[in-house]
Amino acid sequence: GVVIHRKPPWLKAVPTQGENYQKLRDTVRELGLATVCEEAKCPNIGECWGGKEGTATATIMIMGDTCTRGCSFCAVKTSRAPPPLDPEEPEKVAKAIAAWGLDYVVLTSVDRDDIEDQGAAHFAKTVSNLKERRPKMLVECLTPDFRGEKDLIAQVALSGLDVYAHNVETVEGLQRRVRDHRAGYAQSMGVLEHAKAVTGGRVLTKTSLMLGCGETPPEIEATLRDLRNVGCDVVTFGQYLRPSKRHMPMKEYITPEAFEEWQRIADGMGFKYVASGPMVRSSYKAGEFYIKAIIE
Ligand code: SF4
Ligand code: SF4
Repeated sequence: GVVIHRKPPWLKAVPTQGENYQKLRDTVRELGLATVCEEAKCPNIGECWGGKEGTATATIMIMGDTCTRGCSFCAVKTSRAPPPLDPEEPEKVAKAIAAWGLDYVVLTSVDRDDIEDQGAAHFAKTVSNLKERRPKMLVECLTPDFRGEKDLIAQVALSGLDVYAHNVETVEGLQRRVRDHRAGYAQSMGVLEHAKAVTGGRVLTKTSLMLGCGETPPEIEATLRDLRNVGCDVVTFGQYLRPSKRHMPMKEYITPEAFEEWQRIADGMGFKYVASGPMVRSSYKAGEFYIKAIIE
């Protein structure tokens, strides 16, 4: 594709702010919660937080702000030895989220290769604490790959969560360029497969692809087929945007029409739901989509 250097108009849309938005904004600070939505200045915050009653979605990062990996697209800071985990975090975060009045929470984290279990128990504890306090809240975990270790994947998958998400990020041929060398296509497919198998299919599995990294349409289609073959239920597509000059260059802006086409193709392949658009992030309106696809 042609590289356009100025941002196309569809990436400049101003978010609308729904009814619940203000309510959630007012309480988040009192509770001392740090949301990815605010910290990353996500353009979807009005839609996610202000979604119609019963669908308000937000993303919370646990296990610190420093990652042991260094993916070339990612703006998170990295270190070989980040500060230790806060043992009280699973309790504190669960308490704050339960008090917040959210309907759907995405818990995500940096990768912690420095810790014996890579943070699996920490993740699982946060979910079980949260479900004890608010059983009806929908919980998605967007997890590291746990280096493909099945017992760690199982621990998180069986923690009581509703959606097990792990991002394959890009097509097979671009894994090396895009992701940390410890990550990989087959390993990530294996994570999704095991999360589904170990729960007897009870949890939804979910993944995301960034477009605009130089992938070709046949490569995307192959990835979608591989995802369906491991039973992956949900896929999202968004535009890759380079966080800074030190990060991997973007190859092209994908048009809104092309995103719609991927939506149609993936729907036709049997995914339970698909979110696709230039501004879509993996957690985009996750509560609303989940309820439409699964509950209604
Ligand atoms: Fe938050 Fe994700 Fe929605 Fe952005 S897309 S506002 S990070 S929940
Ligand atoms: Fe960023 Fe995740 Fe890669 Fe860490 S593992 S650098 S948080 S994308």
